[in-house]
Amino acid sequence: MIGIIGGSFAGLFAARALALKGWQVTVFEPDAPGDISDFDRTFDEWQRPGVPQLRQPHTVRALARRLLLDRDPELAADLLGCGAIEWPYSLRRPDVERVEDPELIGILARRTTIEPVIRARVESTPGVTFVKAYVNDLVFEQTKDGPKITGLVLRDGTRLPFQCIIDASGRRTRLPEWLRKIDIEPPAVQSQPAGMIYYSRYFRFHPGAEATNMTGIRSGPAGVVPLMAFRSNTLDRGTFSLALAVASWEPRFRALKNDQVFNAFAGQIPAVAKWIDPAVSQPISKARAFGDIFNTYWDFMRDGKPIVANLYALGDSRVHTSPYFGWGITLALKQALLLADNFKGPDNIDHQSEFERAAAAFCYPYFEAAAEEDAARSAIWKDEPLPQSDRYTFYTSVLTPAASRDPYVYREVYRRTNMLTHPHAIFDQPDIIDRARRAMQAGPDKTISAQDVLDRIETAQKATMLAAE
Ligand SMILES: Cc1cc2nc3c(=O)[nH]c(=O)nc-3n(C[C@H](O)[C@H](O)[C@H](O)COP(=O)(O)OP(=O)(O)OC[C@H]3O[C@@H](n4cnc5c(N)ncnc54)[C@H](O)[C@@H]3O)c2cc1C
Repeated sequence: MIGIIGGSFAGLFAARALALKGWQVTVFEPDAPGDISDFDRTFDEWQRPGVPQLRQPHTVRALARRLLLDRDPELAADLLGCGAIEWPYSLRRPDVERVEDPELIGILARRTTIEPVIRARVESTPGVTFVKAYVNDLVFEQTKDGPKITGLVLRDGTRLPFQCIIDASGRRTRLPEWLRKIDIEPPAVQSQPAGMIYYSRYFRFHPGAEATNMTGIRSGPAGVVPLMAFRSNTLDRGTFSLALAVASWEPRFRALKNDQVFNAFAGQIPAVAKWIDPAVSQPISKARAFGDIFNTYWDFMRDGKPIVANLYALGDSRVHTSPYFGWGITLALKQALLLADNFKGPDNIDHQSEFERAAAAFCYPYFEAAAEEDAARSAIWKDEPLPQSDRYTFYTSVLTPAASRDPYVYREVYRRTNMLTHPHAIFDQPDIIDRARRAMQAGPDKTISAQDVLDRIETAQKATMLAAE
């Protein structure tokens, strides 16, 4: 009855949530599932062409953990039982009060571990069928009330009738193309480059090796310097990821695609050097780049009603935000639950509109926050003047650095990052704004200059060349 295009997070969460409510769902996914009997082999070998970001670091936000525990304890147990780390976020500095928050717990594991675990649970859910196939087109019918979806076409030409279709085919969705083909104007889109390219690599600690987290903020060294943010996270089975999110306009960073340059560059960050020291850990992947990153939002309502009756979009094909925020999986889960709550069967335009309004109310502020924060960060990195009245200039230059000094500011910044509070709500907390201003009165942390960062790339390249001679 319901056809879902794409069996990644959005498609899987939707299939599960709808099937638990008694609906019959068919998921079309061309890629084979990952093997859950050996997660290290899956990490090394799983072929997943439909998801090019598969081996980029992914974190699961505290909101997703809470939603799963509340709404789907079985799936939560699978996810938490697969070796994932439940990470309680709090400022860990010996010189400040420790402020705990029982809700503020994220889930850390390789995406190649968690995605197959979710798929396995969805496969065993009564009412869900998987078809290993690529959807090549949609079938529509014109009614007096406007276009309505009636089915889909597979790559081999097979036409299958469906009363409802969910597009969960990710950021490269072909939906706009399919709609244009039958003269339907695609949904209005807002899109803005994130201004970053990701370079990342995975490592595994040697048995018994210990690393000190010098930043005290996250489950691994993290920080922001001009032109670059670096993040690491301890993950399942003694592994950890290191991601360098660098200014997309600076071509010298392209050298980071080289494994040796990546390590030689990252090794110049003192906190990271301790983790990637060959005596402590060893790389388990190549350095991988991911560019072409946008914050994008599609509006599926026009003139107060859904653009196509019985057609839904979930996950990245509705909204995607820069990976810097780590919001995509949780946005997909929340949308899937909203759909399951509002779905009352086909040809029910009022409930479809209800879902659209609920999804927009939840998702749009995340798009807006990501776009504004990325723009503010890019301007700061480019040394462009920006009014301090701009809320995300304030967020980037005062609230975020204050989080590593004041445990209450930390808690609110990380509740926001973990999607437990509305993304803009922090600006309506005068006590937190005051605390942040006071914490930053001593001035910003001593940091290196943009030129220093670029010089270090050059140093890393030279060291790599010398080592090769
Ligand atoms: C570098 C990077 C890092 C990220 N880090 C994080 C993070 O830390 N935390 C987080 O929450 N999010 C993160 N994200 C975002 C996250 O990857 C996405 O939000 C998430 O994968 C979206 O899930 P989805 O199901 O909507 O789409 P996708 O995961 O993109 O999956 C789309 C699926 O549809 C299938 N498909 C495509 N076309 C068709 C078709 N025509 N027919 C049938 N099937 C089709 C594909 O095979 C695939 O399985 C990151 C993204 C990037 C790029």
